[in-house]
Amino acid sequence: MAKLKKVMAEHLSKHRFEHCLRVSDYAVKLAKQNGLDQQEAALAGLVHDYAKERSQADFLAKIDATGLPADLKKWGNPIWHGVVGAAFVQDELGIEDPTILQAIRLHTTGGGHLEMTTLDKVVFMADYLEEGRDFPGVETARRVTDESLNQGVFYQLAHTLSYLASKEQVIYPKTFDAYNDWAQYLK
Ligand code: GDP
Ligand code: FE
Ligand code: FE
Ligand code: FE
Repeated sequence: MAKLKKVMAEHLSKHRFEHCLRVSDYAVKLAKQNGLDQQEAALAGLVHDYAKERSQADFLAKIDATGLPADLKKWGNPIWHGVVGAAFVQDELGIEDPTILQAIRLHTTGGGHLEMTTLDKVVFMADYLEEGRDFPGVETARRVTDESLNQGVFYQLAHTLSYLASKEQVIYPKTFDAYNDWAQYLK
């Protein structure tokens, strides 16, 4: 982990690197609560935003090089840094574990309740709840997630969707799909 932290620090601003350290810590807390391997959670949390500060040109080239669907190109950094970011983590950090790579891929948009592993949910929630986050409702979100990881995932999806809609932002279809799937499963 020490070497990985050094590489992360070299690729990210101080602010973003420190966020990654806090996500790693919060992922360990959630791993303990949910019977998940803590090392795996710490690692996935640390590297989840590895590609966040790459250029648009880098992402577009990676989409071509890895054979990802070309329609991804119409999105932008918020979607790419997870979905395409996993390929940078694999190629540049040498992390091959498919469970870690999937957690990175899903960390922004989530996935349906059958699609997400416990690790995916832990990274998704740790990114939202790490100790540096202070959006309105974060305390409620932490409480809900302490009681139920699944309810926490749904809380985040519902609140992120309403937030994006209130800002009249485009919404990635998989974010909608994930929301609908969790709503049907949990209600
Ligand atoms: P961060 O990388 O630690 O800042 O956090 P995330 O990876 O979770 O999210 C990055 C940004 O993407 C946030 O501003 C989210 O609100 C935004 N986001 C999440 N889902 C979607 C979506 O479906 N569409 C768009 N356009 N943005 C999204
Ligand atoms: Fe992210
Ligand atoms: Fe997130
Ligand atoms: Fe993040």
